[in-house]
Amino acid sequence: SPPRPPAEDISPRDVFIAVKTTKKFHKARLELLLDTWISRNRDMTFIFTDGEDEELKKQARNVINTNCSAAHSRQALSCKMAVEYDKFIESGRKWFCHVDDDNYVNVRMLVKLLSSYPHTQDIYIGKPSLDRPIQATERISENKMHPVHFWFATGGAGFCISRGLALKMSPWASGGHFMSTAEKIRLPDDCTIGYIIESVLGVKLIRSNLFHSHLENLHQVPKSEIHKQVTLSYGMFENKRNSIHMKGAFSVEEDPSRFRSVHCLLYPDTPWCPTNMVY
Ligand code: UDP
Ligand code: MN
Repeated sequence: SPPRPPAEDISPRDVFIAVKTTKKFHKARLELLLDTWISRNRDMTFIFTDGEDEELKKQARNVINTNCSAAHSRQALSCKMAVEYDKFIESGRKWFCHVDDDNYVNVRMLVKLLSSYPHTQDIYIGKPSLDRPIQATERISENKMHPVHFWFATGGAGFCISRGLALKMSPWASGGHFMSTAEKIRLPDDCTIGYIIESVLGVKLIRSNLFHSHLENLHQVPKSEIHKQVTLSYGMFENKRNSIHMKGAFSVEEDPSRFRSVHCLLYPDTPWCPTNMVY
């Protein structure tokens, strides 16, 4: 789709980026993000975790211990999303974005993308993880069920919600309501977000190909377009290691996620980036 003209002048300070993590990934994953994209965007980044870590608090500005269980269960992940939502509402900012701790966020492009939409309108933007709407069953009461289908943006690629829309989600998302909404359809946190927005509120997901999870083949992001992407990821896909493919400042052995190389491409004045590199 053609680029949209800016609808609104926003600054990074208007955006709330929630990074979901868990204690066992503080060293293994978060450190990489703190060294790269978070280092340039400390005021907009809020880290949601499940265990105290004094070291992390020294390195990051906004660390929120959710006190949710450190499990990969549906309930534990919904518990974290509920806290992310509440903290965003409390922050008063214009945009809520959620990412995982295996995402690189290109904040310049994120701000540019969000600038093309008014934050007071109903905007839900991200990448669907499936090529069709998800089918679910809404539990209306003890023995009353109702089939529903809706699109949702995959949490692993990151997604954003305007403040206007987030406020409308409140009866199903604020306080303890997010957890009970998630129980009603028994699906993960990112699906629950899609359910509230598409199924309950009737607002459509805006698809963007600028968000990326490791559930897609990241080798397909062309090198000449890496700087235009909003999010990147790394991890496993179809039982193989998956990362974006680029020559860069560091070798694949030194930088398997490619995030350090991407960071040097976007911020070549970073002290640990090699000088005199031609990108
Ligand atoms: N995560 C979590 N608690 C857990 C395991 C994972 O909060 O017990 C978070 C993790 O930090 C990441 C997200 O959930 O932000 C997705 O985890 P992961 O990338 O390991 O799994 P995926 O769903 O991508 O296969
Ligand atoms: Mn992942």
